[in-house]
Amino acid sequence: MDDESYVKADFKQIRGREFHTANKRGNVADKYKNKKFDKFPKKFLIWQAICQCGFKSDPFVSTGTINQEIYVKECLQKRLLPLIRLHKDPVLFWPDLAICHYGKMALGW
Ligand SMILES: [Zn+2]
Repeated sequence: MDDESYVKADFKQIRGREFHTANKRGNVADKYKNKKFDKFPKKFLIWQAICQCGFKSDPFVSTGTINQEIYVKECLQKRLLPLIRLHKDPVLFWPDLAICHYGKMALGW
């Protein structure tokens, strides 16, 4: 399988519960009560192929999006093909429904 996912560059931009201690009730600074988040924080896109037998490709990391040219060159050619070649038996590769996986160039590859 292969998959791509976006991760935030700054982990402080990930929303979630945080715990702090105070030495006195009500003695909590505003910076702990209210936290600002960027509307569009910097993100990285990470793509990786992983096989059920345990092999995995090197990850492809980008700050942009993947089009079919990038997908074929960076993901399929450089990372998936070496992973497939580690196998002696035929491999079933099942991409998800991302648009870049089904362009003419990607399907031709
Ligand atoms: Zn395998």
